[in-house]
Amino acid sequence: MTGPADERLRTAPMLPVRCGQCGAQVLARKSTWAQTSVQWNADATAACVERHAAAELSRATLRYCTSMRESILTAAQSGDLPVLDPEAGRPGDES
Ligand SMILES: [Zn+2]
Repeated sequence: MTGPADERLRTAPMLPVRCGQCGAQVLARKSTWAQTSVQWNADATAACVERHAAAELSRATLRYCTSMRESILTAAQSGDLPVLDPEAGRPGDES
């Protein structure tokens, strides 16, 4: 049996977050303070300079650029991007 919190995590919509650095817009969902799901589309990938540079250097795909990570964290802290299960881990919990 799954609780309502699990159901909420599974069905919560992803919300648009714009990278403050490059302007790329992705869809993000923050399950906990530590766990973020990010969905890049072609436009966002093309817009993100940092992601481009990393891909050319290493041929690896970054999940998101550092400024995007900051933008998502800022959105979470300001409440624009709700953290679905905020009790699962707080920012600054270094354990
Ligand atoms: Zn970026």
